[in-house]
Amino acid sequence: MFKDSILSAKDMGDDIHDVIIIGSGPAGYTAGLYAARAMLEPLMFAGYMSGGQLMLTSDVENFPGYPQGIGGPEMMMELREQAERFGLKVEDRNVESVDLSERPYKVVVEGETFLTHAIIVSTGAESIWLGAKGEEEQKGRGISTCATCDGAFFRDEEVLVIGGGDSACEEATFLTRFASKVTLLHRRDVFKASTIMYERALNNDKIEIKTFRQIKEWLSDEKGLTGAVIEDPRDGSTSTIAATGAFIAIGHTPITSFLDGQVETDGEGYILHKKHTMTSVEGVFAAGDVVDTRYKQAITAAGMGCQAAMDVEKWLEDNVE
Ligand SMILES: Cc1cc2nc3c(=O)[nH]c(=O)nc-3n(C[C@H](O)[C@H](O)[C@H](O)COP(=O)(O)OP(=O)(O)OC[C@H]3O[C@@H](n4cnc5c(N)ncnc54)[C@H](O)[C@@H]3O)c2cc1C
Repeated sequence: MFKDSILSAKDMGDDIHDVIIIGSGPAGYTAGLYAARAMLEPLMFAGYMSGGQLMLTSDVENFPGYPQGIGGPEMMMELREQAERFGLKVEDRNVESVDLSERPYKVVVEGETFLTHAIIVSTGAESIWLGAKGEEEQKGRGISTCATCDGAFFRDEEVLVIGGGDSACEEATFLTRFASKVTLLHRRDVFKASTIMYERALNNDKIEIKTFRQIKEWLSDEKGLTGAVIEDPRDGSTSTIAATGAFIAIGHTPITSFLDGQVETDGEGYILHKKHTMTSVEGVFAAGDVVDTRYKQAITAAGMGCQAAMDVEKWLEDNVE
């Protein structure tokens, strides 16, 4: 925690950063690019998994400017390189905590404290995975958590969607544009989804809904996913189902624990914007999936990163001498 940390010599006295960016996905790098070009000398803590969620995907085909598509890790390297060219300083370290009780704010990284006038939080969100046997190996090789992103790779193939909420029903319906058949698996017979979303899935000829089914194990061969062993939770009986794609739609967790409740969030932990991209704390801004309960795309995260950097620039002008 902050009180045990060391205030490093280089960060004491007058050495207060204008803005520290926490997180290095599309939101963070875009914020870094704009803040650097605005001469704010931004410092970014990129986290141990620098590059964010797109480091987990092989092809990004919907980010403008790449007519042939681009590998996720490659695209993130390019975003980083572009921001660094204008002076963004990046440290691949995790922020442990922040102290927002007084200004300048304190950002604690591996026991070292950095002072800053403003902060942009762009720590993203983690998809919730099932953790079934074989899942780790098939992530990005058939199993995804983003139908908008990866649905088009499964043209005329049979896919599974797992979940019982709005996103599961919405993703199943969306996937019928590409897949020859979509099987929606839910471990209960009661759906959390709104009636309209559920009925849309139910009435779609390409969707089969199977209740009381959960994934026990993923099956694969050298080419990728081939199906799954599914289990009826009521009696433990199992069967197999064939599919070359699977979309897990059981939710996301925004990464905000290091804020320790100092910034207002909604019931699910997503940071709330109060004025443009500013949070409930003056001078603390947020961008990307950590805020976004709806779109969750690289381009929307990048767009919000741009907005946050422009809001920081204006806020510094108005509030810091
Ligand atoms: C498998 C998969 C495929 C996808 N494919 C596409 C696609 O094709 N097209 C598309 O538009 N979108 C795609 N998405 C969605 C897209 O990746 C996200 O919408 C986007 O990455 C969100 O960007 P972000 O900057 O908000 O956060 P993220 O990309 O999640 O980045 C957050 C960053 O914050 C860092 N961080 C977290 N905690 C800390 C901390 N305490 N200190 C420092 N750093 C921290 C993390 O290490 C990470 O680098 C995909 C997502 C997944 C999971």
